[in-house]
Amino acid sequence: MLTADIRNRWLDFFGERGHTVVPSASLVSDDPSLLFTVAGMVPFIPYLSGLVPAPYPRATSVQKCIRTLDIEEVGKTTRHGTFFQMNGNFSFGDYFKEGAIGYAWELLTTPENEGGLGFAERDLWVTVYEDDDEAIDLWKRVAGVPASRIQRLGKEDNYWSTGQPGPAGPCSEIYFDRGPAYGAEGGPAADENRYIEIWNLVFMQYLRGEGTSKTEFEILGELPRKNIDTGMGLERVAFLKQGVENLYEIDQVRPVLDRAAELSGRRYGADHDDDVRMRVVADHVRSALMLMSDGVTPSNDGRGYVLRRLLRRTVRSMRLLGVDTATMPELLTASRDAMKAAYPEVETDFSRISRGAYAEEESFLRTLSGGTTILDTAVAAVKQQAAASGTAPAPVLAGDTAFLLHDTYGFPIDLTLEIAEESGLAVDRVAFESLMAEQKQRAKADAKAKKLGITDLTVYSQFRALGETVFRGYDELEAESPVL
Ligand code: ATP
Ligand code: MG
Ligand code: MG
Ligand code: MG
Repeated sequence: MLTADIRNRWLDFFGERGHTVVPSASLVSDDPSLLFTVAGMVPFIPYLSGLVPAPYPRATSVQKCIRTLDIEEVGKTTRHGTFFQMNGNFSFGDYFKEGAIGYAWELLTTPENEGGLGFAERDLWVTVYEDDDEAIDLWKRVAGVPASRIQRLGKEDNYWSTGQPGPAGPCSEIYFDRGPAYGAEGGPAADENRYIEIWNLVFMQYLRGEGTSKTEFEILGELPRKNIDTGMGLERVAFLKQGVENLYEIDQVRPVLDRAAELSGRRYGADHDDDVRMRVVADHVRSALMLMSDGVTPSNDGRGYVLRRLLRRTVRSMRLLGVDTATMPELLTASRDAMKAAYPEVETDFSRISRGAYAEEESFLRTLSGGTTILDTAVAAVKQQAAASGTAPAPVLAGDTAFLLHDTYGFPIDLTLEIAEESGLAVDRVAFESLMAEQKQRAKADAKAKKLGITDLTVYSQFRALGETVFRGYDELEAESPVL
């Protein structure tokens, strides 16, 4: 089942059930304080919050998302992309828990030849908030899920709130069991690799009051108008339906991975570290393509910095795969061809998109070769000094040299470590890290001063600030350290 097919089944299913089909919003949200659209519900926040009356009682979308918070997971887990598409169905004071559970189960378990996704019921598990007996009852009654495949989880996992007084409510998540080859039986509460989370149903049911932590707060009562917000990972369903191992191997991503393998002359599946690198390349190139298609250009802060980091990590990964020449023209073209059916603009805008990406790669390759010269000189000096003084301990490259290379020349620390090691040198990591920490503090102060959007939003636990309403604030998460 191609990704496009799953997307169409989704939109047809909810469209036929009275949902207005809403096109994906841009990855760049309208709000400058929010870096990216991180979930399907983001464009609907004004309606979900009740601030603006919803123009329709139900809606559905396939929303482009970017989650920079997941960047370190990419390639290592089977299920995290920095770019992904979230299929959502939303009810604004219309149907509630029974409707959401009924629709989800029907779409997942209706046979493929009848328009559904054709999952076997026995492969699906659900988690519910531990006190949500109503949901447990509905999963049993409406969906026929046996108690043995329903697990109760606490607030940390299965409760959504803004972190502030406002709407809140339990969630319920649906997982696919990949079987004993992927781990011991024990359900999603025990193992998130064997049991893959595919769909989150959020029941916005209560009005919460003040609290002392994310899990300790007062519930003031039921909301007069209850909402449904759900999100299903399109790529996750695609990888499970396509019978491949992970989301980097689906039809929309795999061609880039294959191109990376071809360019490096290495075989995917032969070496674990190389496989991770190829998956990182496949993911990051696609994310970069989609970001540039939505108008982001590489720069040193905010959204542009995220894009720069994705492009540079791609170059770095290709280098670790043994390729130190430009590969972006090949990789980006492969990604365009895999994505153009779903997003024709990646083809029509390709000359603009590619120009920025190629220029970024060229400049980073120059940085790398410049940094290598500086590093080689520093390494030679340290070795000479050590030889002259006849010191017994292994020579060490100073932390401030590593930091200078990183900070001024954009030379990644892992590359410094690698080259130093090749020359028999250790690097003073402690000094390097402390300089990095200082720089991070400075960047943080800067960002605060500029009130710029180095923020992210974990949508199912936090909510967007909306002026002077009850919805105040969502946690600001720092951008990760700028180490590539
Ligand atoms: P996980 O626990 O696997 O990180 P999550 O709980 O953070 O997922 P939600 O915030 O509940 O995810 O998002 C709704 C759905 O979107 C998930 O059930 C999943 O199918 C999909 N999803 C979330 N993050 C990603 C990602 N980085 N890449 C691909 N799909 C994702
Ligand atoms: Mg997550
Ligand atoms: Mg989760
Ligand atoms: Mg979830």
